[in-house]
Amino acid sequence: MLNNKSHNASKGSEVFPICLRTSNLENSSSLQTYLSIGGYQQIQRILKEKISPEKLIEEIKISGLRGRGGAGFPTGIKWSFIPNDSAGTKYIVCNSDEGEPGTFKDREIIKKNPHQLIEGMTIAAYIMGAQVGYNYIHGEIWEEYESFEKALAEAKKANFLGKSICGLGFDFELHAFHGYGAYICGEETALIESIEGKKGQPRFKPPFPATYGIYGRPTNVNNTETYATIPWIMQNGGESFANIGVENSGGTKIFSVSGHIERPGNYEIPMGMPFKTLLELSGGVWKGRKLKAVIPGGPSTPVLPAAEIMETTLDYDSLKNSGSSVGAGSLIVMDETTCMVSTLKRLSYFFYEESCGQCTPCREGTGWVYRVIKRIVDGKGKPEDIDLLLDVSKKISGRTICALGDAAAVPVLSFIKHFKDEFKYFIKNGKSMMDANS
Ligand code: SF4
Repeated sequence: MLNNKSHNASKGSEVFPICLRTSNLENSSSLQTYLSIGGYQQIQRILKEKISPEKLIEEIKISGLRGRGGAGFPTGIKWSFIPNDSAGTKYIVCNSDEGEPGTFKDREIIKKNPHQLIEGMTIAAYIMGAQVGYNYIHGEIWEEYESFEKALAEAKKANFLGKSICGLGFDFELHAFHGYGAYICGEETALIESIEGKKGQPRFKPPFPATYGIYGRPTNVNNTETYATIPWIMQNGGESFANIGVENSGGTKIFSVSGHIERPGNYEIPMGMPFKTLLELSGGVWKGRKLKAVIPGGPSTPVLPAAEIMETTLDYDSLKNSGSSVGAGSLIVMDETTCMVSTLKRLSYFFYEESCGQCTPCREGTGWVYRVIKRIVDGKGKPEDIDLLLDVSKKISGRTICALGDAAAVPVLSFIKHFKDEFKYFIKNGKSMMDANS
């Protein structure tokens, strides 16, 4: 069970809760609480002083903020892709469709700090000249959806949304959109199709949403954590944000720590923190056991064995150099008793289940991968199955419309790369190496 408590880490003597700064306050989601910490002051300042979108984008570029949903694309650059000379409606969308195993950070922002997200989206709308926004919330989370609806109503009543925000002449309508619970709707073009009332399936790109998004109009899609960070950057400046982190990885990042850990939950930490420190903050591996492996950013990021992750810091460059990625920051801890073959079976089933079926390599390949791993776990594996798994996974990668195909191949390739002996043992003996050791 996840306790879903938030924890804010410090760097030196300073404390850096940014997105989760209201989490431990009473009535954390209320407008009153957000106003008490200076909420909605940034959008008012920007509108009053008529600060140009170009200047604000520059500040975001300086901050080094990168998309927190997994791709890590620089936010300031992404926002400059939205054409500012386009007549007619432009949209911004918040992707709160977190549905991958181990992801649970965005729901905490929506539930406990929704007004900061609303202010962040409003500033983003002003910068990109958007008139309408949607927060696309994963269909399986109800409490969070209701919390966001309540916050929207409060913000509208107080004129922080709607016509002429705070009487300062900028109009922005924001809606909550409750998704359908399909993982693939977290892919930005599938999400757009879903908002349009169609089946949530990814589109071919190009054209990209920046020029052809909702109803063919320019649309910017960013993750919840990304938008929620914006008011802080506006208040403290891009440089302050960049200085919290390390080079190429500005600011804080929420890591959702789960699995075999004493204190699972969301930890907002400065980028570049050593993994060892986060492990200590979250109480260490449960039951005093040894660490076996970690998936640092969610199942679509490569697994790292204990020896490698223990020497790694949590930022874009370090994790890339270690052969993995920050992803969405869904950090899954596995202790020494974990059977990597059975774990891979569970992950493969997820990707097989969630494939939308449009592309043959993904639709058929994920099914093949799952069936072969299941055969091994059922004790009927063949010596050639390891090569077969690698072959099928490599043939999925890079041959699909969206990144789910690549994501499905990642756990297979990385689990076999680091734990091949366990797969060989399972095939030879018809049972897990962990059973033999117990
Ligand atoms: Fe659908 Fe998979 Fe193709 Fe993505 S890669 S469009 S999920 S079939």
